[in-house]
Amino acid sequence: MTAPLTSPLLGALDGYWDGRFQPRPSAPRIDVHDPATGAVIARVPTHGADEARLAVDSAARALASPLDRAARGRVLAAIEASLLEHRDALATILTTENGKPLAEARGEIEYAAGFFRDAATHLDALAPVTLAARPRGLTWQVHHRPAGVAALITPWNFPIGMLAKKLAGAIAAGCPSVVKPSELTPLSCIAWFTLLDGLGLPPGFVNLVFGDAPAIGAVFCSHPAVRVVSFTGSTAVGRLLAAQAAPNFKRLSLELGGNAPFLVFDDADVDLAVDALLTNKFRCGGQTCVCANRVYVGSGVADRFVDAVAARVRALVVGHGLDEGVAVGPLIDHKGVAKVTDHVRDAVARGARIVTGGVPAGGAFFPPTVLTGVTSEMRCANEETFGPVVAITAFDDEEAMVEAADATPYGLAAYVFTRDAAKAERVVARLHFGHVGVNTGSGPTPEAPFGGFRTSGVGREGGLEGVLEFIELQTVPHG
Ligand code: NAD
Repeated sequence: MTAPLTSPLLGALDGYWDGRFQPRPSAPRIDVHDPATGAVIARVPTHGADEARLAVDSAARALASPLDRAARGRVLAAIEASLLEHRDALATILTTENGKPLAEARGEIEYAAGFFRDAATHLDALAPVTLAARPRGLTWQVHHRPAGVAALITPWNFPIGMLAKKLAGAIAAGCPSVVKPSELTPLSCIAWFTLLDGLGLPPGFVNLVFGDAPAIGAVFCSHPAVRVVSFTGSTAVGRLLAAQAAPNFKRLSLELGGNAPFLVFDDADVDLAVDALLTNKFRCGGQTCVCANRVYVGSGVADRFVDAVAARVRALVVGHGLDEGVAVGPLIDHKGVAKVTDHVRDAVARGARIVTGGVPAGGAFFPPTVLTGVTSEMRCANEETFGPVVAITAFDDEEAMVEAADATPYGLAAYVFTRDAAKAERVVARLHFGHVGVNTGSGPTPEAPFGGFRTSGVGREGGLEGVLEFIELQTVPHG
């Protein structure tokens, strides 16, 4: 089935370097699907090592004429304004290729714009600093230099949001970028480049390739001009990139997988926790790195909590993300459905109970599901399920609950619900996660640094820290 997606922003379905779209008529094409219908909505060319090198070379030439901080500020403001102006057009493309409800896609574009707004506020912090002291009788200056070409690799679950985090930091730092979106969702990124193309940026300042991810990644990790490889995606690919980049001492910023625990203590405001879980868990159909993967509930409130969650989950409307009132779209593809199905089957085989949902609903759809009686040896407790499954474990002992929550090699996001502020503080300090919500299911915001502990990654995105990922410090003593 073919149903081409049309939009004024999708005139060219090409990569972008040297300041223009670059047709590759003879390149093999990849199908891009609407996950809700399975229809092919576009065919985009496959780039490999050659195109990746051309794009990096283009970025390296742009680096030779760096933008000063004032010019970067104008670029950041122009991108923010352009994202907001074209929010609805971008969101429609995003929903069609990713499946998430349109309201969420619009929210993602606004979230993305926020990173450009926030990055602009950190430009003053990049001014050269002169040390107050004069060690050795010399004047010492510290300059914040652009680190070099930035290679930005992004996943399919937030094709615009995850790129915005990186691109805003790179631009604020003055680094030209080469972007590689997921092959499952390249269209919103191509559309964004149509907008960037209209902003009069210096040629080579932003570049785009997609297709053969391993070949492109290998160029990013070996090309001498690339100094920062910023990647969001699975821990497995992050590990591979880290190994490839290590011999060349590239700067790495890795935002990887999570296995978020969501702790509801007996003294929690249960209604608040239920509300927070619903919003946190079902964004992008449960396919987010920060969504609750393991829900731990005190046995004193477990029955009430499970009943309330199940009632709310049964009421979620599942369907095409462009349809009015839909709260949960399809998963990204059949592989996603197979993984979620395996996790539910494994849990049931090991003694979990399905309270609602649990059976694939056809195509790429999986119904919102609640499982109880989940135990630590089940796959859904150890791996990201990346789907609309609430996996609940009841605990009599708070100590055991905190220990279980932290017993994972991952460390991205966690959530704690209690009315006892001192307990919250104690528990947060024991959780080795980069982002811990207390009485909120909120994920990251552009103004604050966000990133993982342990195997959830290295580096931070958002805030000043997200800009510094792309900065090299140069120390200049003046005699
Ligand atoms: P993925 O690792 O399969 O792919 C991510 C990107 O890497 C894609 O662009 C893909 O084409 C590219 N890629 C794949 N193999 C590569 C290689 N050999 N060299 C270079 N690039 C390669 O991940 P995904 O399935 O797209 O995304 C889901 C994962 O991303 C989940 O694990 C999720 O937790 C994680 N994620 C993390 C964050 C975060 O902020 N920590 C945010 C969103 C998603």
